[in-house]
Amino acid sequence: MEGLFGNYTTPPEIRLDPFQSFFENGTVIAGFSAAIASPRGNRPREISPVRKRGNEEEKKVTADNLLLDIANGKEPAIVVSTDDHLVQNPLDPTVVPKKIKVNAKAISIVNKYPIFSRNRKNLPYGFMLVTFPTTQMYYPRENPTAIGFMMKSIKNAIELRNNDASLARSKAISFFNIGPNSGASLKQLHAQTYIWRGDREIVGRDSYLFKKAYNSMNHCLGCLLSQPTGIEKDHLNQSLHLKKRIIYDGRFFKVFFAYAPLRMLHVRIIPKRHIATISQFEDEELVELGNCIALADDAIFYVSSSLGYPFQDRSIALREDYEEQQMHMLIDVLPSWPLGGAELVTSLTIVSRSPEEASKIFSDNKQ
Ligand SMILES: [Zn+2]
Repeated sequence: MEGLFGNYTTPPEIRLDPFQSFFENGTVIAGFSAAIASPRGNRPREISPVRKRGNEEEKKVTADNLLLDIANGKEPAIVVSTDDHLVQNPLDPTVVPKKIKVNAKAISIVNKYPIFSRNRKNLPYGFMLVTFPTTQMYYPRENPTAIGFMMKSIKNAIELRNNDASLARSKAISFFNIGPNSGASLKQLHAQTYIWRGDREIVGRDSYLFKKAYNSMNHCLGCLLSQPTGIEKDHLNQSLHLKKRIIYDGRFFKVFFAYAPLRMLHVRIIPKRHIATISQFEDEELVELGNCIALADDAIFYVSSSLGYPFQDRSIALREDYEEQQMHMLIDVLPSWPLGGAELVTSLTIVSRSPEEASKIFSDNKQ
C-alpha cells in the first residue's frame, strides 16, 4: 500500500529494552521502548547535529586545563583517591583544599561546584567527585588504559562506604559527560560520582525501572546473555539476537549495540560475572572495562562517521545497585543530544538505524 503510510521493505519495529521493561498486573508492559524506523532516513538531529563552534584542533588546546593544573599541584583541591589508594574522607571537617602534586595515573577530587555543600553544623547529603586521568585526553578512545585507571580511582573512593559509618547506607552513581552537548564544562576527560548518604537518597525513574525489571524475572538476564550461547527469547518474548549486535566478547565483558537503543548507536557493556557495583571488580577486570568503554566510544564514532557525521559527545552511565538485592551491573555508552518530542512525553526513542546495521558497519570495517 503506497501513500501516506509508504511501502517499505523494512517496516518500523518497536522494541522494549529488556533490562528496564516488565509486565505489570500480568499484562501491561512498562519500561522503555525504542522504535527502529529506518524509513525515517537521516533525521537532522541524528546525522547532522548543529555543528559546534570550533574545530578538532581547538578542542585539543592544552592551555586551559584546570584538572591537570590540580594534578600538577598548581591549583588547590580536595583529593579523595587515586588509582592506587584512598587518600582521605572529604566529610572530615579538618579536610580543606590544598595544592598537592599527585603522583598517579588517575585521581578523584571533590567537585568544586557541588550540588551538595557542607557547613560547620550539618553533614552534607553526600559529596560529588570528579575523576580524571593525569594525562591530557578528551575522548575514551584516545587512551583505553587511562579509563581503567579512572575506574580504579572511583573504586578506591567508594571504599569510604566501608570506613565511615555515616556512609554505610550510601549509594553511588557514576557517569561521564563528554563534550559540550552532554554538559561537560572542561576539556579534559572526566567522570563524576555522586555519593548519596542513606538518609537523603535520590530516587529516580531510570534506576527504578532497571531494578523493577530485574526483580520481575526469575533469572538474571545479564548472566544469561553472558553465557556463550546467549538466550533465544527474553521475558518479554523478544528475540534478542545478540550475535548480530555484539562487537566484543572478552574474558570479563561483552560489548554490543543495545537491542532497544536509548539513543541511536547506544552501546551496552555487560560484565560476565554477576557484579552489582564497581567496588566488586578486581583490578584486572577494571582494566578490561576501561578497554570496553574506549571500544564503545570508538564504535559510536566510527559508525556515525560512516553514516556521514561523527558523533563526538558521549554520555556514559554506570548502572549499579547498592541495595541488598543486587541487580547485574550494566554500563551504557551513548551519543548525547537533547531529549525532545515524544521522548519527553514517555520513555520512548526513535532511531533511524538499527543496532544490527550499526554492528555490521563496525564489524565489516574494523575487524
Ligand atoms: Zn547476573
